Amino acid sequence: MPLNNLVKHFVARAKDRTAEDHFFLVALAAAMFSNVVFAGLRYANEQIDGKATGYWINVVGAVGVTLLTVVYWRNRRHFLLVLHLGLALCAFCLVLPVRYGMVSSPWWLGILPLAATLLIGPRAGLSWAVICIALTISTQMLEPRLILPGAAGEAWTEAIASRAMLVLMLFGIALRFRTIVTRLARRDVLTQLPNRLAANERLQTEFLRMKRSKNVYAVLMIDIDYFKQVNDTHGHAVGDQVLQRVAATMQAALRETDFCARFGGEEFLALLPATDLSAAYQVAEKLRQAVQASPDPSAGRLSVSIGLGLSNPEQANEDIAVREADEALYRAKTGGRNQVQVAQGLLSQVKAGDTVPEVLVQLVWRSTYECGNPTIDTQHQELFDGANRLLSAVLKGLPSQEVTAMWDGFLADVAQHFQDEEAILAQAGYPATVQHASQHRALVEKAAELATRFQHGTLSLGELFKYLAQDVVSQHMLTADHAYVSYLKSGQ
Ligand code: GH3
Ligand code: MG
Ligand code: MG
Repeated sequence: MPLNNLVKHFVARAKDRTAEDHFFLVALAAAMFSNVVFAGLRYANEQIDGKATGYWINVVGAVGVTLLTVVYWRNRRHFLLVLHLGLALCAFCLVLPVRYGMVSSPWWLGILPLAATLLIGPRAGLSWAVICIALTISTQMLEPRLILPGAAGEAWTEAIASRAMLVLMLFGIALRFRTIVTRLARRDVLTQLPNRLAANERLQTEFLRMKRSKNVYAVLMIDIDYFKQVNDTHGHAVGDQVLQRVAATMQAALRETDFCARFGGEEFLALLPATDLSAAYQVAEKLRQAVQASPDPSAGRLSVSIGLGLSNPEQANEDIAVREADEALYRAKTGGRNQVQVAQGLLSQVKAGDTVPEVLVQLVWRSTYECGNPTIDTQHQELFDGANRLLSAVLKGLPSQEVTAMWDGFLADVAQHFQDEEAILAQAGYPATVQHASQHRALVEKAAELATRFQHGTLSLGELFKYLAQDVVSQHMLTADHAYVSYLKSGQ
């Protein structure tokens, strides 16, 4: 491959590499380059006898490994393969019964395990240490005279002991270094929690484990409410203190086996292994309450909003549960903050008799739903109560006759309410009364259809909840009703 092609190839691949990869590549290239230079210098300065092939093997090996690494480093597996080949080549130099190959053996003995530990990992380092010691011992046994030609007084046992010490020492340093680097790169300095890199890695391993074991895990996205105000009112130092407090509170409330990371500025991610919807909801509530119960001395009361997502073996990757949790967090924020919301898709899967907490399938009335007209507001609240009674009855699996009677009562209340609402709108001269009434009819038809499906046993609780929460509350009350509320208010 001509040189400019090689350079182009290398530059094109550089985009895909992380900073860590670059560090490895530069370190490896530097080590190989210095080896070439030193071997060359020694070759030029010393009187070479006929057995100096060890030098050339070093030089050829070093250049070869460097080129191979640059050209073939397509991904981490390639890189490791090339690296192991390079190390094997160096080990080969160690056993050659050649004077200069032997003289450099203490270096290889130390450098091979050191390089393997830093670049590949502690286990590889240990393997290479064992290989090197074994190689040295065997060559010492075979040709003791060639090992230390000048050191007449040194016993071979002493030589082996000193080299073994060197290996152990370097291995220890490398291990420590690697641990420190790994920890620093994956920890958030402010809160001491794992950072986003660590969270992404953990999500990936947990996802693969869940695919194999089918044991689902839950993801909680946790965001501090009105955090900008804390910074603005009390300053960044108090903001930082609040982040530390919330991080510590949550970690204390979670189990040892749970994982909690700082995912972004004032956003945290908790991963709960082997946890289903019901248990995860309870953990999320516990976290929310723990933060609420731990006010900051300077900033005062704190709260968090939490979105809950759940993994499942059909998901294509680990991002899906995180996205679900994010979507639920958004609803927790828009729904008033300081609350837990569950991903929409999860609730529509809930079946009668599931052991999910009842609050998950209940509609929550908020004062922001009020329109100011006493009749409409009272009826809306009564419909919420009726819908919640119906949802609880289906969840608890009450006898079908009882539930059917509730349906009938609920449908009658809905019909009455729609009639009254339309009368009020017509009286107020609301221009879109006719369209609004046709939306009412569509809702009634769908409710009647769901009631029939319930009688035939083909309606899931999740579908019923979705109809009430999405079609009736979100789309109708908060959108269509909102339009006439503005009209009524401006008319008054
Ligand atoms: P919401 O309830 O909707 O979450 O509102 P919020 O104010 O909490 O959210 P927003 O996303 O608007 O503001 C987040 C702020 O967090 C903005 C940023 O300045 C601050 N922030 C992010 N990281 C840090 C940090 O490390 N220390 C401090 N003191 N503030 C931070
Ligand atoms: Mg935010
Ligand atoms: Mg926030």
